[in-house]
Amino acid sequence: MPIPQALLDSLQDTTGFTQESFLSVHNQASPPTSIRLNPFKPSPEAWYQEVGKEPVPWSDYGTYLPERPVFTFDPLFHAGTYYVQEASSMFIEYVLRNTVKLNQDLKVLDLCAAPGGKSTLIASLLTPDSILLSNEVIRSRANILVDNLTKWGCLNTYVCNNDPKDIGQRLAGYFDVLVVDAPCSGSGLFRKDPEATEEWSPENVTLCYQRQQRILADAWDCLKEDGILIYSTCSYSQSENEDICDWICTELDVKNCVLPNEEILKAWGIVPTQSSQHQATGYRFYPDKVKGEGFFIAAFKKTKNEYLAVKTPRIKPQPNKNRRTETAIFTKWVKNLEQYAWFLKNDDYYLFNPKHENDIKLFQLNLYLRKAGVRLGQIAGNDLVPDHELAMSPLLQTTIHRHELTKEQAISYLRRDDLVLDNPTKGWSLMTYEGHPLGWAKVLPTRVNNYYPKELRILKQVI
Ligand code: SAM
Repeated sequence: MPIPQALLDSLQDTTGFTQESFLSVHNQASPPTSIRLNPFKPSPEAWYQEVGKEPVPWSDYGTYLPERPVFTFDPLFHAGTYYVQEASSMFIEYVLRNTVKLNQDLKVLDLCAAPGGKSTLIASLLTPDSILLSNEVIRSRANILVDNLTKWGCLNTYVCNNDPKDIGQRLAGYFDVLVVDAPCSGSGLFRKDPEATEEWSPENVTLCYQRQQRILADAWDCLKEDGILIYSTCSYSQSENEDICDWICTELDVKNCVLPNEEILKAWGIVPTQSSQHQATGYRFYPDKVKGEGFFIAAFKKTKNEYLAVKTPRIKPQPNKNRRTETAIFTKWVKNLEQYAWFLKNDDYYLFNPKHENDIKLFQLNLYLRKAGVRLGQIAGNDLVPDHELAMSPLLQTTIHRHELTKEQAISYLRRDDLVLDNPTKGWSLMTYEGHPLGWAKVLPTRVNNYYPKELRILKQVI
């Protein structure tokens, strides 16, 4: 699909745009493939040596792959040991490292978060007592976000499904960092998805520009004074990038953040750019200059908050007459249980960081919360029916029975086929591949029940 002429015309005066190399790179056979490793689920050394030969320069966890495998048929992908993410967008890591004190406990909102690329990256950078609230306004996309963050396996990640205005109005002055990876016209991904060129139009760029302003204005109050706003798009259009930076500088109380080591950024092929009115610096990624797709990012510090910050409600501890029984059961499943707290909702138990108790209450009272802490499962009789979230979490007790699968068995398990295991041990068993949990199975005297979630199962047929 050819790049729309109207887009090319609109980019002629844009910093860093070179039509000839830009067009030529769009005609190349295949874009680079990159993944980002999950620091909480380390892969074996041999695996790094095999695939991680070429790191993404601006990310500690990003690596290019020599070719694109069929990720669906890699059990380690389903185990959450890595996320498939194009390299340019991993630059948010560099921006965060240079604008925010990541060794402090932070409250971070990823406002437009599905499917979870930026959120899984941000979660990898935060302290355990920090909070990442990942929001997605579209309900079906919020489900995918929950699935991806469940796979990533962090206890401090929360998901909500709200309009930006709800968060701006109800959580005033709450967040240290606001990430707006805005819905955009998507031209930066044309190389990866040539069909998308058909949906591009100047009218849509204008609509996106208006929507981006509305999202920023609606959410703005939830950022603390001195908090950091990170704005990004995967569009090349100036109106969605530099013009939005001008709008931010005009309408909101901010100071633009300039990233250090400009020479290194330029050596990596990243193009610093300035908005025309306020000379706010942003960073452009062109696929003919970096090994990645089209991307834009800019950061700002909030200089003034006009609203009183929301107060987190103080929770009075409620007596729990079942606590002894619950503790006895959960101790079998969760290591260091004494470090966590839990609550019961609709028969499901959720384990969470007790330092977040008041924050969770605040979210529950004000937002449509879709994920909080780790869902443990339900108590039936004297035991737990474990949830998939527990299998994917870092909480699992070391004594839980594990059954290591071959690649073929793992794929069969992930398809939710009937399982045939060698020497299975009766009861609940964690299915693992190369040591990484995939989910639960229950071994009965005559058969093995596959508890891999139906909605996550592999449907694709051909390997
Ligand atoms: N940050 C994501 C990642 O790294 O995987 C990608 C986000 S995508 C560029 C933009 C997201 O904004 C989409 O998931 C889209 O559903 C959501 N969105 C669309 N309209 C929105 C609105 N009016 N307010 C907030 N988010 C919106």
